[in-house]
Amino acid sequence: MKVLCVNAGSSSIKYQVVDMTDESVLASGLVDRVGIPGTTLEHKPAGKDKVLIKKDLPDHTAGIQLVLDVLINEEYGIMKSMDEIGAVGHRVVHGGEDFAASVVIDDHVKKVIKDCFDIAPLHNPPNLMGIEACQALMPNVKHVAVFDTAFHQTMDPANFLYALPYEVYEKFRVRRYGFHGTSHFYVSHRAAEMLGKPYEQCKIITLHLGNGASMAAIKDGKVVDTTMGFTPLEGLVMGTRSGDIDPAIVFFLMEKLGLNTTEANNYFNKKAGMLGLSGVSNDLRDIIEAADSNNERAKIALEVYYNRIKGYIGNYIAKLNGCDCIVFTAGVGENAIETRENICKDLDYLGIKMDAAKNNVRGKEVDASADDSRVKIFIIPTNEELVIARDTYSLTK
Ligand code: ADP
Repeated sequence: MKVLCVNAGSSSIKYQVVDMTDESVLASGLVDRVGIPGTTLEHKPAGKDKVLIKKDLPDHTAGIQLVLDVLINEEYGIMKSMDEIGAVGHRVVHGGEDFAASVVIDDHVKKVIKDCFDIAPLHNPPNLMGIEACQALMPNVKHVAVFDTAFHQTMDPANFLYALPYEVYEKFRVRRYGFHGTSHFYVSHRAAEMLGKPYEQCKIITLHLGNGASMAAIKDGKVVDTTMGFTPLEGLVMGTRSGDIDPAIVFFLMEKLGLNTTEANNYFNKKAGMLGLSGVSNDLRDIIEAADSNNERAKIALEVYYNRIKGYIGNYIAKLNGCDCIVFTAGVGENAIETRENICKDLDYLGIKMDAAKNNVRGKEVDASADDSRVKIFIIPTNEELVIARDTYSLTK
């Protein structure tokens, strides 16, 4: 059976087709600028050359239709007919408190996704658009929702509640949810395999460091805590998001800079983080390069970035009462050799000791810990699409 994985954003659609007989990726691609002039589709069929198509598309349905046309194209397609797609898996960012696992999409599931619009206004509306576009074009197959929040639903109230009047949790569902769950799920399971221990007996700290970044503390197969909260703004310093700050700064800057709520939201999500602090870029590669050329702001931005992560490692080792391994993943975690080294520096008191030579890799699954490190340091490339494909397959086969 072939599974189509879809990740629909406000103006983009990422897709991947996985053959579940051997979990091989038959094709992947990205439709960019959906609904905006200058739409492009980049299609990567396995074993063939990349294809770039330029064609303006009015909406997500037209975007999905183009993906399906490309998938069955005689020249660069990967199947004869759309009927070969057995099921479709959709990445959905917010499942609220209703879903702790992936589900087959029905009217109730769509209602829950809709009910979460007000707490995930940037993500859930386009996710639902993607689902409805696919359902319209593929009405005869089952569609599955895989939620970013689901894996973190094992957190208990002691970790998910904010110290706010309890009514705002009851009335408005203001609590910590956590995101990147599919990635934390995937790499923590791989880590347990690398440890050679049953997952349910491991204490694992996962570091998903991409443009967006979050960490999770996992014990006995359950998420104990994670750094992102009510929204993906909380926690680590990210490409353009501030992560943890004193909330009073929001009111202060709204007044000083004359920002309304929408502008303030934009400010802390898009103008802050490594971009705002360094003044160089949101991309860590550019910041490292600038720091190497003695740019002082780039240097201090990197120190802030490392320190926040180190602080959470300590926090999580305390919450887990120990740790078998820490895991680096996503764009930065998988590729930034120097960043991993700086994060692990001076953590030997906590049992974390890196082997610099073993750490000298990009995008590969390795154990980068020194022989006498009590805590293993793993680098594990994430694979969210594989989790989506597996969940979709197991719920629909
Ligand atoms: P997202 O999915 O959140 O957009 P990714 O996981 O794809 O992010 O990570 C993208 C980020 O990875 C880039 O912004 C860049 O900062 C970082 N990155 C990729 N390669 C390297 C590298 N070699 N060194 C440092 N950072 C890197």
